Amino acid sequence: MTRDIDIRVEQWREQALCADSTSPDLWFPERDGQRPHRERVRPAVDVCHRCPVRRPCLQWALTQMPPYGIYGGFDFGWKRDRDELDKIADRLAS
Ligand code: SF4
Repeated sequence: MTRDIDIRVEQWREQALCADSTSPDLWFPERDGQRPHRERVRPAVDVCHRCPVRRPCLQWALTQMPPYGIYGGFDFGWKRDRDELDKIADRLAS
């Protein structure tokens, strides 16, 4: 059973646009406080919005709830996105 889940995860990851990025650090923006949050995350979020596997990526991240990083166009380390993600997770669970 677990093996089937692992295979599906690998299938969507093969189509992830971030996997081909030459700048994977974009998905883990620094918390330097020098630039506004939106400006720091925009390059990665723009890619996520064009990504064909945004939905399964976000669903995976919602099950894992990583403490930081951008998944499915949301910054899991930013409180405002985190609050929105909690609402999405609640809707999916109901
Ligand atoms: S939605 Fe974003 S983080 Fe998720 S696989 Fe696509 S590019 Fe990567």
